[in-house]
Amino acid sequence: MRTTVIIGGGLSGLAAAYTLQQHNIAYTLIEVKRRVGGAINTVRQNGFVMDGGPSLINHEESEQLYTLLNSLHIGDELFETKHGLSLRSGMQTLTDTLDRKLNGGRLHRMAVSSVGQIGRIFTICMENGLMFDAKSLIVAIPARYAERIFYSYIPEISELLRGYRYDTIARLSLGYANEHLPTEPLKATTQKYPFVYHFNGPPRAPTGYSLLHMGVRLTPPMQLAADEIIARAIKDLNLPPAPTVWHLDYWPEADPLDVYELKHAQNMRAINELLPGGIALIGDDYAPTPLQKDGIYRIMKRIQLAQEAARGVANFLGAKRN
Ligand SMILES: Cc1cc2nc3c(=O)[nH]c(=O)nc-3n(C[C@H](O)[C@H](O)[C@H](O)COP(=O)(O)OP(=O)(O)OC[C@H]3O[C@@H](n4cnc5c(N)ncnc54)[C@H](O)[C@@H]3O)c2cc1C
Repeated sequence: MRTTVIIGGGLSGLAAAYTLQQHNIAYTLIEVKRRVGGAINTVRQNGFVMDGGPSLINHEESEQLYTLLNSLHIGDELFETKHGLSLRSGMQTLTDTLDRKLNGGRLHRMAVSSVGQIGRIFTICMENGLMFDAKSLIVAIPARYAERIFYSYIPEISELLRGYRYDTIARLSLGYANEHLPTEPLKATTQKYPFVYHFNGPPRAPTGYSLLHMGVRLTPPMQLAADEIIARAIKDLNLPPAPTVWHLDYWPEADPLDVYELKHAQNMRAINELLPGGIALIGDDYAPTPLQKDGIYRIMKRIQLAQEAARGVANFLGAKRN
């Protein structure tokens, strides 16, 4: 029997695992993909550091994040850009470092298909037919997957998560020699390109080069090949035709939209009432309804939710032991 099973190896699952480890609680982390990190993904090429997912950290979160980064010995990674805070070697440094610190059990390239409960024991069924038992469970996957794994266990939760809506975006990075870039600042944001960030030189580009990092709105399913999207962006933004490097990540289900609905808080209350002790549901899609659409800044909030969930599990297991 496993002590705690964590489903999902994105930032939330990794942060929960790290916190459990600090409480000396054994865990097994299950991640469907080959790599952990989930939405966090950095590509490094020819001296350019290109984030395909999150790239910025909220200033208001900087103190707490700095404390965490210091405890991971990567405090010097935090740097100030004119658009917000970021990490010198890319956001994946955070998840890679958490990953390296973890010494618990790991199952990669294995998907959880359903969870259940027999008495006080949680059961975890994998798509490949394997089954595990655990005393506690942290579910750190988006609502669109959680809906399915809860279906035969607590169908009311699946019902509350059904049809969860997301925003779609692509993240495009283009690297140029400074001498090839227009001297005029890039056009203001548009509906199609909601943001264009310009990083001049190190640490995101070699000296004498710039990295342009932008959001591109594309309606799913993605109809165009990556090179067509890049060609259009270059034309729309009046950029030089041949970037030194480029990287494109397409996110058909990027930002959770339901979280901004009034009904979300009500649904989350109902879900939390339905969840038995010893199980937690964490990640973007279950966060409290924000007071305003605070956009992209969620990194530290995800970590805090994961830490709270891990502490909750620790208390639950401690209470069970006594
Ligand atoms: C394009 C994009 C840009 C963003 N930009 C910013 C930003 O600039 N600043 C900021 O603060 N935040 C940003 N965010 C938000 C931030 O990335 C997220 O809050 C955070 O990464 C969410 O982590 P998570 O672990 O909760 O979810 P995820 O990263 O989605 O991880 C979930 C993990 O679960 C795995 N999984 C799913 N189903 C199963 C299953 N059945 N069995 C096993 N494993 C499973 C997945 O493979 C994945 O690895 C951005 C998000 C996106 C998508």
